[in-house]
Amino acid sequence: MSVTSTVIGYPYIGANREWKRTVEAYWKKTLTEERFEESMKALRLANIQKQIDAKVDIVTVGDFTYYDRVLDVAAMFGMVPKRYNWDGKEVDLDTYYSIARGNKESVSSEMTKWFNTNYHYIVPEYDRSSLRLYENNPLKAYLEAKEELGVSGKPTMIGPITFYKLTKELKKGDQPAYMSQLISLYTQVLKELVAEDVEWIQLEEPILATSISEKDMELAIMVYKQFSEIVPEAKILLQTYFESVDHYEAVIDLPVAGIGLDFVHGYQENLANLKKWGFPEEKVLVAGIINGRDIWCTPLEKQFDLLIELESLVGRGKLWIQPSCSLMHVPVTVNSESTLPEPLKNNLAFADEKLKELSILRNALCEGSHAYQEVFNHNKSSIDDLNNHPSRKLRNVHEAIAQVNEGDFNRTSSYEVRKAIQQKSLQLPLFPTTTIGSFPQTPEVKKARSQMRKGEISSEDYREFIKLEIKKWIDYQEKLGLDVLVHGEFERTDMVEYFGEKLDGFAFTENAWVVSYGSRCVKPPIIYGDVQWIMPMTVSETVYAQSLTKKPVKGMLTGPITILNWSFVRNDIPRKEVANQIALAIRKEVQFLEGEGIRIIQVDEPALREGLPLKINKQASYLEWAINAFKLATSQVADETQIHTHMCYCEFNDFIEPIRKLDADVISIETSRSHGEIIEAFKHYEYKNDIGLGVYDIHSPRIPQLNEMKAIIDDSLEVLSAQQCWINPDCGLKTRKTEETLAALERMIDTTKTFRERY
Ligand code: GLN
Ligand code: ZN
Repeated sequence: MSVTSTVIGYPYIGANREWKRTVEAYWKKTLTEERFEESMKALRLANIQKQIDAKVDIVTVGDFTYYDRVLDVAAMFGMVPKRYNWDGKEVDLDTYYSIARGNKESVSSEMTKWFNTNYHYIVPEYDRSSLRLYENNPLKAYLEAKEELGVSGKPTMIGPITFYKLTKELKKGDQPAYMSQLISLYTQVLKELVAEDVEWIQLEEPILATSISEKDMELAIMVYKQFSEIVPEAKILLQTYFESVDHYEAVIDLPVAGIGLDFVHGYQENLANLKKWGFPEEKVLVAGIINGRDIWCTPLEKQFDLLIELESLVGRGKLWIQPSCSLMHVPVTVNSESTLPEPLKNNLAFADEKLKELSILRNALCEGSHAYQEVFNHNKSSIDDLNNHPSRKLRNVHEAIAQVNEGDFNRTSSYEVRKAIQQKSLQLPLFPTTTIGSFPQTPEVKKARSQMRKGEISSEDYREFIKLEIKKWIDYQEKLGLDVLVHGEFERTDMVEYFGEKLDGFAFTENAWVVSYGSRCVKPPIIYGDVQWIMPMTVSETVYAQSLTKKPVKGMLTGPITILNWSFVRNDIPRKEVANQIALAIRKEVQFLEGEGIRIIQVDEPALREGLPLKINKQASYLEWAINAFKLATSQVADETQIHTHMCYCEFNDFIEPIRKLDADVISIETSRSHGEIIEAFKHYEYKNDIGLGVYDIHSPRIPQLNEMKAIIDDSLEVLSAQQCWINPDCGLKTRKTEETLAALERMIDTTKTFRERY
């Protein structure tokens, strides 16, 4: 046998989200701790069994979690923030979950995006307590799998450099002490594993696939050198994923036994480096060859050819193969889908199907490809079927795209000219108040929708119900004295799904869930065909709302980049092209709304920043096409029409220039939780367009204090002019209760009044 297969990780949620249900039942206390542990163990073992059944040569263990794998490392080392008044004895389940979710006394740790994925991890906090090894999770996982399933797995954990770099706000003075504690903790983990005869130990270092500095690379060299000196017997498999490694020569020189490189994302750079610099003879190369980030079948023959090339470069017997990253970023199995159209269904590969592909590639390499030619041909013809499918050849769409030119990306007049014209027609007061779009999705709203879907009420009845909600909330908004009203988005479940269901080119799965954070899962739509506008999507609700009031009602749309980034996207054409197709569809809706007399239109782009490539040198081109897609959707309106956009969770330090380029008349941003940072960012910037200050945090049920909102506005006014500021909550209000919403908005408007008096 010349090729070994392995995986970086397998999804822990289960084909029917059993994991989520188990965890949530424990939280609700409908499951005792004992029963909970039993269920988790059963799930954990079933997942390992999947790998065994799929004939993965080296099975991975320790990829399971009770909430998040970064938090797991923190918990192993007793990194419990001081605010929990933890007794230091053991990190029990309740302590673990309170870091993740907060408890009565203390807020949770922060959560943020895991590299360029839609998964969010818990940010480790180091507050200078002395750490020790409370639990050796990789060892536990190893022993359990050995005892229960008879396999000697490869335990995995997040590696020291990645963990260190993700730790929150490390102060310069604390860095050396923290790093040296981490080194001794990791070496202890390694020692204990070696003592139990564990062969391969996987350390995941995705940070090495980002643009890290020379200094950080030196740190990695120092740390891994120490491991090799202190625990020379440990056979470390250092995994990188999500991109190519910048410091290729240094990475392959690290004193470890194997190195995982991504040959899907950033494969050109990794391959070029491999050709240029070679690969050390004494190490194994683990090639990520099957896309662990998307849901599409692998072009088997193409990847087979790449593997042959890789094998010729590193030598026979030294090449291992695996999916490009943990399979936790894809759903579990296509077998749970029964309603997808044919050419699409045959072209999907979720985690289980990817394991099958892995096994085919492995066997073809071991046995020679001749026996697999038929499999390869079949795979190729099914990919061709989808590529040649009429849904990918919509003439209208291709013609429209071909006709796009420079003029389609820009408004007719400059912002200053537009602002004057809009003010004349809208007559808004200083510090106009508005909301971000959605109002509470109450149990009644959800019930009506589910009754409509089950056919228990007719769609006319449902529409009447939605109209009543709209009317109720237009009345509330008028009473509150808001200046720009919204219809409330009651008809929408989700800001992408709602539009996807009404556009050509989208498919929806029944069970294709992936974790977004903790127990929260999302089911992204699949963009498989050309995207095309077929019918008005938001016009009737918006126009109805406008008919009820003299105040302007703002139309609410989701932007092209957010629709793109929150979907699984076809891979036969560049993402940029898909973005432009969506942009043209949204543009049509914008123009429809405008034609119906809607004077303000908001196009949300909360996911603009998350599509940013990991590598600095790839960011500019993404930003250019992403910003252009937004502009393509929003520029072809009259000067009088005011375009808004909204972004939440943004880190703004390096993002003001892209925001400026969007040239939206008004952008509402999240200022409540990160206001210091935002003010700092705007300080060095001459930003002219209007900004909606998100003056309170909608994620909490608490009614904001007058003073808190005042402070945010005061601080903002140090760097922004009064003529520029709008006042609004920091995001949509769909998750809040009606009373909370009304009380909070009333305070917000009271706060605004005090500022109007002052100016
Ligand atoms: N308009 C959307 C809403 O109000 C925006 C949601 C978002 O930014 N995530 O719900
Ligand atoms: Zn938001």
